[in-house]
Amino acid sequence: LIDLDRAHLVHPVASYRTHEQLGVRVIASASGATVTDSTGHQLVDGFAGLWCVNAGYGHESIVEAAAKQLRTLPYATGYFGLGSEPAIELAAELAKRAPGDLNHVYFTLGGSDAVDSTIRFIRYYWNMRGKAAKDQFISLEQGYHGSSTIGAGLTALPAFHAGFSVPYAWQHKIPSHNVYRNPVGSDPAAVIAASVAQLRQKVAELGGPERVAAFYAEPIQGSGGVLVPPTGWMKAMRDVCRELDILFVADEVITGFGRTGPLFACSEDDVVPDFLTVAKGLTSGYVPMGAVFMSEHVYQTLADGAGSSAVGHGYTYSAHPVSAAVGLEVLRLYEGGLLENGRKAGARLMEGLNSLKNHPLVGDVRGRGMLAAIELVVDKEKKTPFPAAAQPSRRIFDRAWNNGLVIRAFADGVLGYAPPLCCTDSDIDAIIQRTKLTLDQTLE
Ligand code: PMP
Repeated sequence: LIDLDRAHLVHPVASYRTHEQLGVRVIASASGATVTDSTGHQLVDGFAGLWCVNAGYGHESIVEAAAKQLRTLPYATGYFGLGSEPAIELAAELAKRAPGDLNHVYFTLGGSDAVDSTIRFIRYYWNMRGKAAKDQFISLEQGYHGSSTIGAGLTALPAFHAGFSVPYAWQHKIPSHNVYRNPVGSDPAAVIAASVAQLRQKVAELGGPERVAAFYAEPIQGSGGVLVPPTGWMKAMRDVCRELDILFVADEVITGFGRTGPLFACSEDDVVPDFLTVAKGLTSGYVPMGAVFMSEHVYQTLADGAGSSAVGHGYTYSAHPVSAAVGLEVLRLYEGGLLENGRKAGARLMEGLNSLKNHPLVGDVRGRGMLAAIELVVDKEKKTPFPAAAQPSRRIFDRAWNNGLVIRAFADGVLGYAPPLCCTDSDIDAIIQRTKLTLDQTLE
């Protein structure tokens, strides 16, 4: 398998080097929060695949829901006014639970095209409201909003930009709230005030609110290193956007579906965005699907304008009935105990990670619910980033793997955790104990 993989399977570009120099591991099967590789080695999946298998592996009822839908109707398009039962039901069930008046749901295949769709919808929205000059977009440093060519410009990871003149001239960034390394210090009020001032300043630089279409934020920045803003940050940014008539997009591709506790992190933040994007936990990774929620005023504008303007947007696999059937079953599982279990397990995870704070390598512990990170440093006082050149993060990933733990090892010494919500106490304890072992080995 590994030879065939090398010869033929193209991995995500960010993994090329890993693939060529460090080899490939084949995951053969999984159950609950445990994955087994092709050599029989068992590991706790502390990262739920790629922050997505929120429900855990091996739910027969999800398999049944997919199989039943495959037999009944494996495909239906949403074009030409057509639809399918599971897609309509899923949209209705999600709208019922979404914050505020996010009553309208557009289904995509994953997170990147959900973000791309918002860019398009937002441009249409302002055009239809006679404000075509509002065409500038703002997001955060250390943000991640997908890998498609357009969405990648909102993403702030340089590796996703090379060679494409991305970010485009209309895509702008303001600094992250990054509480651990914020130049204004870690006082919540100071961090919030700094972000608000930076947003206002950026809007002014771009020619004022009449030029700015939208601001994008993740309730917790995921791929940037699990950066948790202070309580009230999302609300403060939302309020500025409302005041300036700038659309606010909450990207909940990671934070949605129980990752931080509730179905949507925005509910906890007391924020109703104009758009909310999800993917990953929507189908718990069993089949691909993403979605864009839009608020009543956005939908009404788009619906009113759609007949009169040249607008076009849609995918062959939008609202795929099999994905929708899986989404409905996954939602039933979340509400049948998984969210509750995730909240308990998340408290245990945070407590366990906090107990590692005194470890000589641990500079910061942060997270909310089942989304967490520890940031390794060489010098705690100076917050000197880890790893040193001799300790690439892949080495830490490998060590954890050998210790029976899958984590995300970010390049800058941040270890990321996003375990399935079905974790038992002993899964969480194994994550903590294997992390400690891995850190001790890293220190040696
Ligand atoms: N937005 C956020 C916040 C994400 O974390 C991701 C993926 N990690 C995406 C968008 C893109 O989603 P996908 O990989 O499903 O295209």
